[in-house]
Amino acid sequence: MTQPNANENWGTPPWKIEFEPPAAPIPASSNLVVIGGGFTGLAAAAWLRRLAPGKSVVLLEASRIGAGASGRTGGIVLAETAAGDLPGLGDVLAGFQEILRELEVDCGLELGGAWEIARGGASSKAPRAGSPIDWNDSGRLRVVNEVPGGTLDPGKLVSGLARAAVRAGAVILENCPVQNVRWAERIEIEFGGDGARSRKIFAEKVLYATNALSLDLAALAGKAEPRLTLAALTAPITGAQIEAIGLAQRKPFYTVDLPYLWGRLRRDNSIVWGAGLVNAPDGRGLETIDIASAEPAALFARLEQRVRGLHPAIASIEFTHRWGGPILFRDNWRPVFSWHPQCPPGNPNAIVLGAYAGHGVALSSYLADWAAESLLGRRALPSWGSIGG
Ligand SMILES: Cc1cc2nc3c(=O)[nH]c(=O)nc-3n(C[C@H](O)[C@H](O)[C@H](O)COP(=O)(O)OP(=O)(O)OC[C@H]3O[C@@H](n4cnc5c(N)ncnc54)[C@H](O)[C@@H]3O)c2cc1C
Repeated sequence: MTQPNANENWGTPPWKIEFEPPAAPIPASSNLVVIGGGFTGLAAAAWLRRLAPGKSVVLLEASRIGAGASGRTGGIVLAETAAGDLPGLGDVLAGFQEILRELEVDCGLELGGAWEIARGGASSKAPRAGSPIDWNDSGRLRVVNEVPGGTLDPGKLVSGLARAAVRAGAVILENCPVQNVRWAERIEIEFGGDGARSRKIFAEKVLYATNALSLDLAALAGKAEPRLTLAALTAPITGAQIEAIGLAQRKPFYTVDLPYLWGRLRRDNSIVWGAGLVNAPDGRGLETIDIASAEPAALFARLEQRVRGLHPAIASIEFTHRWGGPILFRDNWRPVFSWHPQCPPGNPNAIVLGAYAGHGVALSSYLADWAAESLLGRRALPSWGSIGG
């Protein structure tokens, strides 16, 4: 069954999440608890059960699986991290493909490469001779580089990871927003939902996979910047139009200079385009941003005007969907992959993982696998992910 859109304020992405976690009673305790049901949390829940089938795993999702960035992403698959390669990171794309194989997730992955595009100013690389893309957007936009990567269907990735987690024996509980976590002998997690009184679950170990939301809980307030980032989908275009605008090779693209613009074709020849970041109003969360309000509406109008101005072949292209999604940035562009600062001394038992910026589609599952190993005491965390660093 296709799930309803969890946050109406953020508009409707085109991706369909076609998996509903089976109803399950809320246990009083679980060996391992994952907070957050995006790519990170779902992949981690599946891996924890695969690595430690004797341990119970419960995932608590505030809303519906994929309600955050994962069900709203562009679905461009990229190698490495937003900060490039990092010590000990390994091969993200190879690892991601292996995870999909192991978990039997079919998400329409196509790894034909991705294009970096730029206006060719003094600070950017020179355009490639014969660049298929030749657009007009604050200068002449052309391909400057090709990098490993591709595309997938994010709805299928969310569904597939959730299905794999449930198949492996994890319990996924939706509409369970975690409100408080206390460290005592065991970790006490308090959550609400469905109008019921707040409830509790005890855990031995916890993974925080809450990304750009619940920053206080994850000890990320002031350490990383949350934003709502915007995307829009056009109606399908013809093969002749695709040829004319230089996308016949169907590679996704993103600018490496400003103003930022990214995009990708979907299988039905509609195109997802993205640009624009909205700040959370002071003291309130991203959840309160309504994409119909003045600032996002102006950013959408600007994005659509830019897209129509790129090339005469798409001058009257129609847009069918507009949506936003939460994104989290660190100053150094590195992901957060750290023990939670409130872990008791000598007993590291909670990991915070996220803040991939616009680079989390493959990296989230890849690092979730690593996080599962670390929670089970089988692998050290990398030094580059520390919250303090
Ligand atoms: C519009 C957009 C386009 C993007 N495009 C790309 C792209 O093309 N390529 C790329 O590599 N990356 C892209 N990204 C980034 C990528 O989508 C994210 O890095 C990735 O989805 C993050 O996954 P996650 O599971 O860590 O976080 P999320 O998917 O945000 O999941 C966090 C989950 O935690 C839940 N949660 C929060 N607080 C609580 C709580 N207190 N209790 C319980 N649950 C809680 C939320 O409801 C949410 O479901 C994009 C992001 C956006 C928003």
